[in-house]
Amino acid sequence: MDKDITQRLVVVGGGAGGLELTVRLARKYRKNPAVTVTLVDRNPTHIWKPLLHEIATGSLNGNHDETSYLMLAKKFKFSFVMGSVEHIDTDAKQLRLAAVTEANGDSLVNERQLGYDKLVLSVGSICNDFGTPGVMEHSLLLDTRVQAERFHTQFVSQLHRINAQSGDADTQDNYDASLSLIIVGAGATGVELAADLHSVAEQLPSYGFNTFSRDKLRVQLIEAGPRILPALPERVSASVHTELTELGVEVLTDTRVSAIEAQAINTADGRVLDANLVVWAAGVQAPAFLGDSGLPVDRIGRVHVTDQLLVQGHNDIFSIGDCCACEMPDGGYVPPRAQSAHQMASVAYKNIVRQLDGKPLKTFLYKDLGSLISLSKFSTVGNLMGNLMRGTVFVEGWLARLFYLSLYRMHQLAIHGWWATSLIMLNDRLYKATRADIKLH
Ligand SMILES: Cc1cc2nc3c(=O)[nH]c(=O)nc-3n(C[C@H](O)[C@H](O)[C@H](O)COP(=O)(O)OP(=O)(O)OC[C@H]3O[C@@H](n4cnc5c(N)ncnc54)[C@H](O)[C@@H]3O)c2cc1C
Repeated sequence: MDKDITQRLVVVGGGAGGLELTVRLARKYRKNPAVTVTLVDRNPTHIWKPLLHEIATGSLNGNHDETSYLMLAKKFKFSFVMGSVEHIDTDAKQLRLAAVTEANGDSLVNERQLGYDKLVLSVGSICNDFGTPGVMEHSLLLDTRVQAERFHTQFVSQLHRINAQSGDADTQDNYDASLSLIIVGAGATGVELAADLHSVAEQLPSYGFNTFSRDKLRVQLIEAGPRILPALPERVSASVHTELTELGVEVLTDTRVSAIEAQAINTADGRVLDANLVVWAAGVQAPAFLGDSGLPVDRIGRVHVTDQLLVQGHNDIFSIGDCCACEMPDGGYVPPRAQSAHQMASVAYKNIVRQLDGKPLKTFLYKDLGSLISLSKFSTVGNLMGNLMRGTVFVEGWLARLFYLSLYRMHQLAIHGWWATSLIMLNDRLYKATRADIKLH
């Protein structure tokens, strides 16, 4: 590569895929003044998205598991720009970052432009309400940390309400107070949330919620299709269904939600189901600014990429993770999963380096290594696939748990390296030994 040419590599979105890619690029070019690496994210810290349902229930403290982008930028010598990208001018090679205003409406930072030579779009996905009335007004979402914390605040408030009402022996007011939750969407997010809620409920009496017991928690998991976990093998789906039912989760399949109201949902077959809290986890779409910027997108707004992860028609823009539509040889699309983002980050890294070196690009081929579903402390179930296994192998119990936990550790390893990840693991142990198992504030 010509050392006189300055290449501005800009990654938008420091999530499961984008952050791993940024760190690898920064490490590669840290001693090369001709290449700069910049990460743009709308948040100051990174949280691995598959942990969000645990932040929502309180089984994880987001403050402990977050990583500061500025700290990583200092360590690996890349630039971090905090801001929300709202438009891409692909001709001028400029990003437009939204203005930032204070809570009282005063302007804090004006709208800004940021130039790039090569761009990576890894902005993930957001909730898809499929046009269902009331979703945005009356349900809780789990796409961002702010949303997970909003759920947590409301969940804990409800727990305090039940505890106070149930213990009000003088007035006998509402003595059998209970908490009813409806989760719409029985994919991995909905299923894991349902199990984790029961896990937290079981621990509550030991935290002073003396009158609380699991039978006061009613969780209904609603799925429009004929079975839960529709993207996973039937055996996994059936096993998880049985486990959830044994926990007390009410699973309603073939149930289409037609509208959401305050504290209730309407189903297409005319039923009204009441709930204190409704969570919408039924589908994803890509952020609208991608299509609005003129990039080629599919019906849920994902950017069409080639098998080299280049945005179709744009030789200087890559896209990885949930926000891209990457067709596989069998005609299907790479699923929106953390393992997909991880694999794509690895190939995008190689292709950016190869492009700068004037070499031919590599083809991305998604390898499905299987999927694991954590039913909190109760069980872990899934299927594994890979070179060592012929076909798909069903796993559950401690082995499945080990593989499940290793997914997050692999992500940490890709960002922090062996030494720092070992220290983080040690720190996690110490943290667990000295703090409460659930966050109730
Ligand atoms: C509750 C939950 C549980 C899950 N569990 C699993 C699981 O067990 N296994 C699994 O494989 N997958 C799981 N997933 C899916 C997985 O989290 C995603 O597939 C994965 O995070 C996608 O990675 P990504 O890099 O594409 O996007 P993300 O990890 O979502 O990162 C996107 C980043 O872009 C930033 N961003 C977004 N828009 C902008 C903008 N306009 N400007 C600047 N920055 C922006 C965001 O702040 C974020 O940091 C789960 C998802 C959820 C919500």
